[in-house]
Amino acid sequence: MENKLQKQKLARIASLLKKKYGAVEHTPEDPLEVLVGTILSQNTSDKNSEKAFLNLKKAVKNFKDLLSMPPGKIASLIKAGGLSNIKEKRIRESLEMLRRRDPSFSLSFLVQKDSEQAMKFLSSLPGVGDKTAACVLLFSFSLPVMPVDTHVFRIGKRTGVIPERASLKKAHNIFSEIIPAEYRDVLDLHVNLITHGREVCKAVNPACPKCVIRPLCDYYNKLKQDAAS
Ligand code: SF4
Repeated sequence: MENKLQKQKLARIASLLKKKYGAVEHTPEDPLEVLVGTILSQNTSDKNSEKAFLNLKKAVKNFKDLLSMPPGKIASLIKAGGLSNIKEKRIRESLEMLRRRDPSFSLSFLVQKDSEQAMKFLSSLPGVGDKTAACVLLFSFSLPVMPVDTHVFRIGKRTGVIPERASLKKAHNIFSEIIPAEYRDVLDLHVNLITHGREVCKAVNPACPKCVIRPLCDYYNKLKQDAAS
């Protein structure tokens, strides 16, 4: 599909989902908390990563203070989230690299860059992939980037916004290409896609008949064609 068509389809999906689920109320989040929270969410359930995150929140006022903790302490606090030693290492190394770049940890230098450069810098941090980088830029700085989580990935493929066989990396690249730099509703679209993925377009047995974006969906249209033939 041409980029132009993908752009138009995504814009129509965004508008239909916003009509159904509404706009998202959002206060910019602390970038270190988003960064650490997303590292904690890797390879575990929302419930377990939340538990790990809350333990860290109880232990320090500001996540930059995690660097002062003795080795192993972070891992013991985030045990509930699994892979705690690996995640402690990722958190420490990422915070160290950020401190070297910006001792104040404000990360405001990121908004002086364009989204692509900011993504490149954040993705270079240990254990920080495209999704984590995009979460920081979107939830803390409202930059127009789309974190491709499991729901965004699945709905993107089913609707045909991204090709069926696209890798996660490719999906991130496509969203970066088709989301206009001046677009300010990415956060609404991201959150609404997740809600839609949880409530309607589930991994197994998507509820297509009650889906508001079905006229735009390749998967649904193919089902209809198959049923008619
Ligand atoms: S029509 Fe079905 S497959 Fe397509 S987005 Fe909606 S629920 Fe998902």
